[in-house]
Amino acid sequence: CNGTRLNARANSTLLNGISLSTACRMTLDDIVEWIETVPDTLPENMRKMADDIIDEFMDDSKVLLDLGLGYICLDRPSNTLSTGELQRVQLAKTLKNQTTGVLYVLDEPSIGLHPSNIDGLISVMKRLVGEGNSIVIVDHDTQILKIADHMIEMGPGAGSNGGNIIAEGSINEIIENDDSLIGGFLSGSEDTIIRDKSLRSNLFDDGCIELSTNEVYNVKKMDIRIPKERLTVITGVSGSGKTTLLLECLYPAVKAMINKDALPTNVNYVDADGVTKIELIDSVPIGKNVRSTVATYSKVLDDLRKAFSKLDDSITLNYKASDFSYNTGKLRCKTCNGTGTVSMDVQFLPDVEMPCPDCGGRRYSNEADRIKHDGFSIADIMELTVDEAIDSITLSNRITNKLGKLSNLGLGYLTLGESTPSLSGGEAQRLKLASEMGKSQKNSVFIFDEPSIGLHPLDIKVLLNVFERLIDEHATVIVIEHDLDVIRNADYIIDMGIDDDNMGGDIVVSGTLEDVTSCDKSLTANYLK
Ligand SMILES: [Zn+2]
Repeated sequence: CNGTRLNARANSTLLNGISLSTACRMTLDDIVEWIETVPDTLPENMRKMADDIIDEFMDDSKVLLDLGLGYICLDRPSNTLSTGELQRVQLAKTLKNQTTGVLYVLDEPSIGLHPSNIDGLISVMKRLVGEGNSIVIVDHDTQILKIADHMIEMGPGAGSNGGNIIAEGSINEIIENDDSLIGGFLSGSEDTIIRDKSLRSNLFDDGCIELSTNEVYNVKKMDIRIPKERLTVITGVSGSGKTTLLLECLYPAVKAMINKDALPTNVNYVDADGVTKIELIDSVPIGKNVRSTVATYSKVLDDLRKAFSKLDDSITLNYKASDFSYNTGKLRCKTCNGTGTVSMDVQFLPDVEMPCPDCGGRRYSNEADRIKHDGFSIADIMELTVDEAIDSITLSNRITNKLGKLSNLGLGYLTLGESTPSLSGGEAQRLKLASEMGKSQKNSVFIFDEPSIGLHPLDIKVLLNVFERLIDEHATVIVIEHDLDVIRNADYIIDMGIDDDNMGGDIVVSGTLEDVTSCDKSLTANYLK
């Protein structure tokens, strides 16, 4: 069948000159155009039936097109769709059966969407509400929040500092509420450009990375330049090839160059002279097991163990640094083996995880509480937040230094003993950067794939400060992003699109914010103004 999944007879049946499998290889944009031409090619007595079928087809397609999925081929395997694409296909499927009285709960539907696709999403949501349904959304995107009839703002902080309703009401009521943290972002009164951006004339003063790619999937050849030691944002609608460019071309190519390996086949040429390190910082959760905590991942625990082993009581009782490890040390809780939890075998059901009955989740045995510094045992310290630990522990400069880096990354509210798999994507992303902060990043490149996902506008400011610190240390920062505040703070923007032949990799405009906003062809520009 040559991959068409159809037999010869089916493949030889033609409608308006093409077979079903040829039709399925078309993009939604193309097939919508083509299908309109079909009825005229049919015998008179079949036209009414064809019109009915086409009407139904157009109804279904319109939703997918509204959601910005027109570039997808009908035969695209669903397991190759991105999370955002899949969520929108599912939403479109739900809409197919006109419903009323249904409560839809959407978890961050704006993830991965270009502002123009968000407009499509908004029109779909308005349609659902118009048909008599209710929608509850968890989201941070102000473009979406602004259309809400009623908003509940939770906070004020994250984790143990959250859990309160700080403002509630219509968007205007939220804007006028002094307790609201997001009000200023909704009204536009909050300053969103917080970096001192590079002047256009100085953009390439510290050199640049050049990349030339071959055609990959439905992304055409690209030639790009990225300034070194600047913040570059790659943006564009879904399907424009941002991820292909950065994650499948630039990252592996520079990596190959550093390791003196052969270039990946989809890369023609790369010049990143002098670059000695390239890091991809994603928001994938850290570690799969409960033994990894903020304290172990940031290596604060290593220093704590050493400091505790030097205390007089430890010397008297002959405890070494290794004994203070909750994973392998003598002072760990023997009941839960230092995991803080025990699993209970419930017949016929999956095991249930419970806090350890002996240590209550502290991971250490009572023995560990005999050794204290300033009134805190190592188990007590693990229950402190990073900021509390900075205020109350004076064990060593190394510890204060490491804790300070976490706090500067906006993670001061995390508890040291918090297990890392339970951190949010944004928290994981910043924690991964902790070891990179405060040292020279000359010749280092950091790539971020939609780092703003799930972040409150205030957290986005923290993220931008992190970028700024890296760039102050001479790092080159490259970000795939749709968030308008991140785009506005970029030194250099590459805005990508889809050309008339439905090929991604079309570079609509590249330059400073002003270059992009003054470009008539840029879809992104409309939202940045
Ligand atoms: Zn225990």
